[in-house]
Amino acid sequence: MKVTDHIDKAKNSLFSFEILPPLRGHDIKDIFYTLDPLMEFNPPFIDVTYHREEFVYVEKENGLLQRRTISRRPGTVGICAAIMNKYGIDAVPHLICGGFNRQMTENALIDLNFLGIDNVLVLRGDPLKSEKSFFAQKDGHQYAVKLVEQVQNLNNGKYLDNTFEQKDSPLFDFCIGIAGYPEKHFEAPNMESDLFFLKKKVEAGANYIVTQMFFDNKKYFSFVKKCRSEGISVPIIPGIKPITSKKQLNSLPSRFYLNIPHELVKEIEKAKDKKMVSHIGIEWAIQQSKELKDSGVEVIHYYTMDKPENIYNIVQAVY
Ligand code: FAD
Repeated sequence: MKVTDHIDKAKNSLFSFEILPPLRGHDIKDIFYTLDPLMEFNPPFIDVTYHREEFVYVEKENGLLQRRTISRRPGTVGICAAIMNKYGIDAVPHLICGGFNRQMTENALIDLNFLGIDNVLVLRGDPLKSEKSFFAQKDGHQYAVKLVEQVQNLNNGKYLDNTFEQKDSPLFDFCIGIAGYPEKHFEAPNMESDLFFLKKKVEAGANYIVTQMFFDNKKYFSFVKKCRSEGISVPIIPGIKPITSKKQLNSLPSRFYLNIPHELVKEIEKAKDKKMVSHIGIEWAIQQSKELKDSGVEVIHYYTMDKPENIYNIVQAVY
């Protein structure tokens, strides 16, 4: 079922979360082990992130460096299929531009359709660690809007090769999610420009927006207001993440270009140990979630970042 159908049918605010595929060499049972406890809350859908290949340099016997390509977290589509098969819950694979050309994307969408997957979260992907800016694959997409257009074309029965066109009964009907940034995407020169391109993604066919994580609800409320005044009317699902370590006070802002309120920083800095930090992070996320839920948001989306057990405590307190 589509994410938007879950939203339309829901009587109360829903919750969803995203998981990361396990690191290469790890068992899918690790995923089930962490998902099992969350099933008691009946999540309507679960996102599975996509992780692009990376380049590493390995020293050869002669001392020269050899470039190798590795995918540390493969298996997004397989995990989606396994989640749907084991729990009967909709899985939302993330689909990125990076590393894909348009033909590879079309083939990936055909796989998803054959697996009965109705949803995709469409993203550009970050630049490779070895590159300063994002570079599209040859014949790939430079921006997420183009990937949204490709998915929407298939929804309208248009393949890359028009000899396969299915005007009357297209096989595809993906519900398309996209990313939005309450504190602006780091490359955008200003919020207005970022909203302009966000609207382009909606006009191209996106059905809902999931936000980057934020720690101050005011940022989300103000973002929603700006989106609405620009005419963006699709659901805007807030993304929440509990802080779990002191290190994240620096790593989250530098990785995701966001602010952490001073009050939260002060509390975490005072914490004596990791357990206390987790407790503070979870309590903060609970307060944020309660306020968002009371404001009538359709869904709250939790970033597990490999720690779904924290989400259990939050969801138990909020839902
Ligand atoms: P875009 O919408 O393409 O925007 C990127 C930048 O370009 C923005 O600054 C925008 O303002 C600008 N822009 C857009 N269109 C144009 C245009 N036509 N001309 C000029 N400028 C333009 N990354 C992964 O690799 N895997 C994941 O699974 C993943 N999941 C995510 C889930 C969520 C909810 C979020 C918020 C992010 C996720 N990301 C993921 C990270 C995401 O890929 C990065 O934030 C990336 O840098 C931008 O992706 P985007 O889809 O927002 O890009």
